Amino acid sequence: MQAWARELGFSQIGVAGVDLSSAEPGLEQWLAQGFHGEMHYMQAHGLKRARPAELVPGTVSVITARMDYLPRDTPEGWQAVEWSRLQRPGEGIVSVYARGRDYHKVLRNRLQKLADRIAQEIGPFGHRVFTDSAPVLEAELASRSGLGWRGKHTLVLHREAGSMFFLGEIYVDVALEPTESVSAHCGNCTACVDACPTGAIVAAHRVDARRCISYLTIEHPGSIPVELRPLMANRIYGCDDCQLACPWNKFAKTSALPDFDARASLAGTQLVHFLAWDEAMFLRLTEGSPIRRIGHERWLRNVAVAMGNALRVSNNAAERASLQAALAGRADHGSEVVREHVAWALAQAPQA
Ligand code: SF4
Repeated sequence: MQAWARELGFSQIGVAGVDLSSAEPGLEQWLAQGFHGEMHYMQAHGLKRARPAELVPGTVSVITARMDYLPRDTPEGWQAVEWSRLQRPGEGIVSVYARGRDYHKVLRNRLQKLADRIAQEIGPFGHRVFTDSAPVLEAELASRSGLGWRGKHTLVLHREAGSMFFLGEIYVDVALEPTESVSAHCGNCTACVDACPTGAIVAAHRVDARRCISYLTIEHPGSIPVELRPLMANRIYGCDDCQLACPWNKFAKTSALPDFDARASLAGTQLVHFLAWDEAMFLRLTEGSPIRRIGHERWLRNVAVAMGNALRVSNNAAERASLQAALAGRADHGSEVVREHVAWALAQAPQA
């Protein structure tokens, strides 16, 4: 099965059982603390998330898979390249995983192909494929089945691949031998906890999603809390900082597929260009990209916050003038959310 998975671009697969009861108390506590923010679907699915056989009746095993996603042309020392983007406040930073094709589509297609290949061998069987799907306790299944261990940032990481990979699952109604979990290798390191710009990693293995920039830019609807906006700097879709800080990511691997290569429009682009996208352009330029899921309004909201931050810190008068002019052009946008963030951004300009 590993060989078929590799042919399909996966780096590793494993098998987990369906008894995740020991993960339930932690999940319940996380929800009770409200750390899921506005992700109400997490609450709605409740403990079904930890009970695969309730989500898909008949499930007795879960095939887990991981797929490396660094773009194929990622240079040696890529973390330094990514950190340097934060020194250029006029540039918008899109998280590395989101610069190419929507991974949901890529993984789902390939997981289905893997299931078809298995069916050719053993005959038809009941199954359902998932990737980054709300009702699935994905990282828990991955770590139980040996795809890595849970880092203090809660992501899964592997000694030979760091954490720059996507996860997917196939729930199956055939009993398969579970694969062994691996031991954790974080030791005394706290680099991810220390690097998080908003302090969202409130304790080892505990993330308050309400403070996480990935959550704020992607999942959070409406207005972004004012006190968190300056901490977002020029990150407009997701955030990689906890992963950039992790020493294990020197072993992160490039993808075997062209799908995750960065689109020219999404890496190294100036915020003023991003703000200029009208809805038709946003839809065209994000076709097949995960960014399209957040919609044009949230996109403009995020870009406006980043522009306010650039306006506050830029010491280049021409850059500030161009940011102000672009923001002023959006000041009477039809969306109240966009207008409010644009007004906030304009107010960040240093007073003469
Ligand atoms: S940065 Fe350190 S603590 Fe965080 S996941 Fe990596 S090794 Fe673990």
